[in-house]
Amino acid sequence: ASSIRMQGLRKQFGRDSVALAGVDLDIDAGEFFTLLGPSGCGKTTLLRILAGLEEADDGQLKIGGKDVIDVPPHRRSVNTVFQSYALFPHLSVRDNLAFGLRMRGEPAAERNRKVAEVAEFIKLGSLVERRVDQLSGGQKQRIALARALVCEPDVLLLDEPLSALDAGLRGQLQVELQRLQKRLGVTFVFVTHDQDEAMVMSDRIAVLDSGIIQQVGTPSEIYEHPANAFVARFMGHDNLFAITASDSNWVDTGLGRLQLDPAEQRDTPDGWLLIRPETLELGGDVPADYNRLEGTVEERLYRGSRIEYRLTVNDHPLTAVAGNLGQRIHDVGDRVTIG
Ligand code: ADP
Ligand code: MG
Repeated sequence: ASSIRMQGLRKQFGRDSVALAGVDLDIDAGEFFTLLGPSGCGKTTLLRILAGLEEADDGQLKIGGKDVIDVPPHRRSVNTVFQSYALFPHLSVRDNLAFGLRMRGEPAAERNRKVAEVAEFIKLGSLVERRVDQLSGGQKQRIALARALVCEPDVLLLDEPLSALDAGLRGQLQVELQRLQKRLGVTFVFVTHDQDEAMVMSDRIAVLDSGIIQQVGTPSEIYEHPANAFVARFMGHDNLFAITASDSNWVDTGLGRLQLDPAEQRDTPDGWLLIRPETLELGGDVPADYNRLEGTVEERLYRGSRIEYRLTVNDHPLTAVAGNLGQRIHDVGDRVTIG
């Protein structure tokens, strides 16, 4: 496994399209690292620069401590798995897996040994003689992965490899892929636009927007302490309110005046207030020392294990989530006290 160090990577397509606006990022050897961001934020461009398939306009790139900016793709110990599989459909699984080794000129005996080993590893041992176009999407993605791993790269790049799969299979491959990475110890740079996928799989995540890194951290750091409003929204936090007035221990956001926990450290008077839907209490028995708001239930969404309420408070939307058992159920149109 190799570490990766990026410094000031920039890439522009045409005059107005800045894909990467100066990316600094350090990825540790053996890390499962995820680039997370909306479509068009520059994820694929960054991966292609790591692979050597795209040239950066500016910046430095080291892989395993070695400057690689001028090293061509096939001389980097880096392999890529694409969303589209990029397999040869008319060839057998075995020939697909052996392709890279053949290109490298490995002798047949060595080639066969490695192919058998990786096929076993990825649970495709019984399929090696099949043609790829006879296999399911999940099987094809496993083969694409095995084909990238058989060459024993120090770094594996994965560009949204699971997004074409249905939810069940996707969840299963998320777990398998994460286990595989830990067993092999290869550095993974994984790209996704799905924050749940990123949180489940990664050691660390970099959130990208418009070619700029917004935050780097562990899944819990990013979910629990988003660095800015973009990251908070992207991680699925709905209840985000701009602070319009504040003092050391209270804030106003238009919802109403809210007292802050005195233990809460604040270094700036303005900013954003984020309210976690699961911490809100609805109904009559709001504890006396809680902040109280009055709101109206606009929508009630049944989500199985919990109920989601879409409320309005002083014309601002607010989401609350309550457990589904032994709770009073509120109806659309009800006025409720919110703690
Ligand atoms: P992502 O993978 O996050 O969806 P990309 O890296 O593919 O984003 O694209 C980032 C930006 O760069 C987008 O605005 C995209 O339109 C632009 N872009 C990417 N590749 C090219 C290209 N070959 N030519 C022109 N513009 C490109
Ligand atoms: Mg992309």
